[in-house]
Amino acid sequence: MGRANLKKAADFEHAVHLARSSQVTFKAQLQEWKNILIRGGDPEQLDSIAPAWGGCATFIGASYYHFQQVKPEQAKEMDQVIQRLRQFRDDRDWQQFHNPKDLAVALSIEASELLEAFLWKTPETADTEKVKEELADVLAYALLLSDAYGFDIKKIVLDKIERNEEKYPINKAKGSAKKYTEL
Ligand SMILES: [Mg+2]
Repeated sequence: MGRANLKKAADFEHAVHLARSSQVTFKAQLQEWKNILIRGGDPEQLDSIAPAWGGCATFIGASYYHFQQVKPEQAKEMDQVIQRLRQFRDDRDWQQFHNPKDLAVALSIEASELLEAFLWKTPETADTEKVKEELADVLAYALLLSDAYGFDIKKIVLDKIERNEEKYPINKAKGSAKKYTEL
């Protein structure tokens, strides 16, 4: 195992250990509070156990730090793509043109060029090379737009999937092409 992977494994182990400590501390605290508030324990003890909640927060914070060190390879590869796009843009001094509005316009134009690959054709006879090329343009502008705002791509997509899961519950949406307002 390389040094980088060893560090990752250690970080992951720390993160899991800290998350467990947090869970244990949290459960113990919960039990204490339950004893005092519901089972007739001594209310005087409330003040003495309160600071322990801070311990949970500390464990969670440290755990989060170590999890962040274990960045998935895929995310790193995406960072490399964005870095390359920035380099291409900056070598040509194009950032001055890349405001969010124009990036959104460019994205839409590239999306139309993508449609061109399918115009007057069946899905099967569309030019795959053209699809590949225009899709790359669409993705490049999507990444640049996201970068212009400093968005975390993975987070915004996962957040949206979560919202869509709520809008389209499986029991209602499965096999249906209806919009969520019509489900
Ligand atoms: Mg194009």
